[in-house]
Amino acid sequence: MNKVHNFSAGPCILPQEVLQQASEAVINFNNLDLSLLEISHRSKDFVEVMENARNLVKELLGVPDGYQVLFLQGGASLGFLKAAYNFLPNGGKAAYINTGTWSSNAIKEAQKIGVVDVVASSEDKNFNYIPKGFGIPNDVNYLHFTSNNTIFGTQFKNFPISRIPIICDMSSDIFSKKINVADFDLIYAGAQKNMGPAGTTLYIVKESALGKTGNDIPSMLDFRTHIKKDSMFNTPPVFPIYVSMLTLQWLKKNGGVKWIEGVNQEKADTMYQEIDRNGLFKGVTAKEDRSTMNATFVLTNEDLKEEFDKMWNEAGISGIKGHRSVGGYRASMYNALPLESVKALTEVMAEFEKKFG
Ligand SMILES: *Cc1c(COP(=O)(O)O)cnc(C)c1O
Repeated sequence: MNKVHNFSAGPCILPQEVLQQASEAVINFNNLDLSLLEISHRSKDFVEVMENARNLVKELLGVPDGYQVLFLQGGASLGFLKAAYNFLPNGGKAAYINTGTWSSNAIKEAQKIGVVDVVASSEDKNFNYIPKGFGIPNDVNYLHFTSNNTIFGTQFKNFPISRIPIICDMSSDIFSKKINVADFDLIYAGAQKNMGPAGTTLYIVKESALGKTGNDIPSMLDFRTHIKKDSMFNTPPVFPIYVSMLTLQWLKKNGGVKWIEGVNQEKADTMYQEIDRNGLFKGVTAKEDRSTMNATFVLTNEDLKEEFDKMWNEAGISGIKGHRSVGGYRASMYNALPLESVKALTEVMAEFEKKFG
C-alpha cells in the first residue's frame, strides 16, 4: 500500500512492488551477492537486463521490424537536439507544433541546426488547447510534436498525419495508450514520467531513416553509434534501465498497454467529472484536448486556497501543486497511480464543496 497518494508530475509514482524489487537488487542482484550498482555493464547479468528492457518496449508497443530501441542518457531535453542532429540537415527546414514549454524547448534546439517552421501553436491562449486544422508543408525534413503537454495538461487525441517523417516527444504519455509506432520515424521519452526513474531516455528510431543529413554528428548524439553497440556504446545508466525493465514487466503482467489505457481513461473520467461537477473548481484546458495524464484545474474562489490545501494535505495527498506557469493545481495520473488515489482526491474536493460551497 502506498503511504501517500502521489500525484507528482515527474519524477513520479512507480509501482510499489517495483520499488521493492529495485531496492533488493541494490543490495543483492540475481543472488550474485553483489549489488546491481557494482557489477560490469558488460556482465551477462546486466546484458540480460538491457535485452529484456528493449524487448519489453518492442512487445508492449508492437514495435515493427526496422526500428531500433535505445536507452540513452541526457534526458528528453538532449533528445530535442539529438532529433534535430539526426534528422535535420544543416540549414534544412523542419516543421514544429508548439503546444507548450517542452515543444518550445525542442524548437530552440532545432534552431541550432536548421530552420524551424512553427506550423501551429497554442501560445495565444497560454497553451490551453491543441491546435487543429493547420497545414503541414511538404518541403520540410520532418514534423515534430509533443504528444502530451505535461505542464499545461493538454494531449493530442489524434496524431497529425503527414507523408513527411514524424518525430514525437512522448515523455509524459508513452505506454499510457496504444500507438502505431510505424507512423513515426522517431519517438523519444524521458523515463521519469511513465517508465522508471530519471536518468535514461527511451528512443525508438526507424533505422533506414538515419544517416541522410550529411551532418557531422558528435558520436554520443548519433543514434547510429548506439545502434551499432546495442545501446552499450558507453556505460549505460544501469539503475534507471533496470527499474524501467521492472516497470515494463509490471505493465506486461497486468495486461499491457491495452489494460492500462482503460485504467487511465477511468482515472481521467473520474477526475474531470469532479472538476466539472464541483462549483468550487474549474478546468484549465479545452475539454476535447484534456490530458489523461495531467489534469490542470483552479479554484473558482482563490480566497479558499488555504482551506483546500489544508484538506488535501490532511488526506495524504501529495504533489498536486500546479506548475508556476499555470498556477492552481495539477493532478498527474501516470500509469502507476491507482484509481483509489484519484477517488481519494475527488472525495476531498467533494467534501471541500460541502464545507465551503
Ligand atoms: C519532462 C518532460 C521533458 C523533459 O525531460 P528531461 O528528461 O527532464 O529532459 C520533455 N518533454 C516532455 C513532454 C516532458 O514531460
